[in-house]
Amino acid sequence: MSGLPLPIDGSGTPTATNVLAPNASPMTLDGTNTWVIGRGESVAVVDPGPDDEAHLSTVVSRLGDRNVEVILLTHGHEDHSGGARRFAELVNSPVRALDRTHVLGEEGLEDGDALTVGGVEIRVIGTPGHSFDSLCFWLPDDSALLTGDTILGRGSTVIAPDGDLADYLRSLDKLRAMAELAEAEALLPGHGPILADPVGKLDEYMTHRRQRLDQIRQAIRDGARDAGEIVEMVYADVPKDLWPAARMSVAAQLNYLKTR
Ligand SMILES: [Zn+2]
Repeated sequence: MSGLPLPIDGSGTPTATNVLAPNASPMTLDGTNTWVIGRGESVAVVDPGPDDEAHLSTVVSRLGDRNVEVILLTHGHEDHSGGARRFAELVNSPVRALDRTHVLGEEGLEDGDALTVGGVEIRVIGTPGHSFDSLCFWLPDDSALLTGDTILGRGSTVIAPDGDLADYLRSLDKLRAMAELAEAEALLPGHGPILADPVGKLDEYMTHRRQRLDQIRQAIRDGARDAGEIVEMVYADVPKDLWPAARMSVAAQLNYLKTR
């Protein structure tokens, strides 16, 4: 969590710009990244962030005269979607998401969907795992991938209680294949700074997952009896404020190992 302060707010690619929400925490890193996508008068806003009036007002003011054609959600977790309903009111726009409970308007979102907003193409990639409803958005014009919580700008992703590790590993494989084929140049995460070298980062994530699974198998062989004991043995290198998240990850991994 330490290191030089990174210029996250206002960072981006030619068509995507970040508005950083002020909800920093061990789980949300510097805060949620709200992404404004578009080059012209119409834009898409990805993940309005938490239900925080000040943040939503900041997003509105950064938009200037531009019109929000659609609000997209990478997934339904509160820190990404909590402000969606209020933001939709402020900018008079529909909300599209995989999980229908978050949809406002006619249309949801699914793997394989493609949208064009203000001349910018956005392709939807289903990437369940971190949560059951996680999506990534590919911006071909920028060779950039918006990853939500599937890949973070720092550290590694937690498999949430509504997620699944087997799904997550499949999603990483899928993203890696896609990133290599499409020569992806940047990952735009839901938290933390933009990442270069998408293929390298995806390899790193897959290696990390395999190592953790091996460590957990070893901890069980060494006599760990529950998730708490496994966290103490396997996550000793992780700051203690992240141990609740580590417990969540261990639960997901135990679940995965049980079904192998
Ligand atoms: Zn999440």
